[in-house]
Amino acid sequence: MALLRADFRLEPASCYVDARCPRYKVIVPAETDLAPLLPYLNAVAKVMYYDPGEPALVFKFQGFKVAVRRDNVQIGPVPDAEIGRRAKEKVEEFLEKVWAERENITPRHDPRTLPPPLEIYRLLPGTNCGQCGELTCMAFAVKLCALEAEPSDCRPLYEDPKFSDRRRELEAFFS
Ligand code: SF4
Repeated sequence: MALLRADFRLEPASCYVDARCPRYKVIVPAETDLAPLLPYLNAVAKVMYYDPGEPALVFKFQGFKVAVRRDNVQIGPVPDAEIGRRAKEKVEEFLEKVWAERENITPRHDPRTLPPPLEIYRLLPGTNCGQCGELTCMAFAVKLCALEAEPSDCRPLYEDPKFSDRRRELEAFFS
């Protein structure tokens, strides 16, 4: 059974305002009610947000932010329709796989939301040492919140025992 319809449309992604570098989100209508899929996605995807009441779930997938609701999936940002079509195919393939394998997945029904960067930042060493590839701990905190980095990319957090409590607290946000 197909989860998504074959057609899709592009809408401007409101967070991008530079006309020289347009960005869009791909809106794909659902073929069926996607709500039953969400607890399984919540168990296996890189989830940024899950509200079982709405229901809605946002996850990160191959550089795209994907929002899943009962009746549609939104994927972004993409620069044009062709990349949007390819992103739609990849996301659709992933959703179909999760649904097909749901009997082997323990669903998660707990709501999830990532804390703001400042809350993440206070758990980092704060030395701006650059070992994570960012110039500052704040920049790393922003990347963590966007699920573009892993807590383990901050080596001092793992190598210095005095940060072990902070490390555990940080990992709990991303588990
Ligand atoms: S490696 Fe850790 S301590 Fe160093 S800049 Fe990155 S986040 Fe800060």
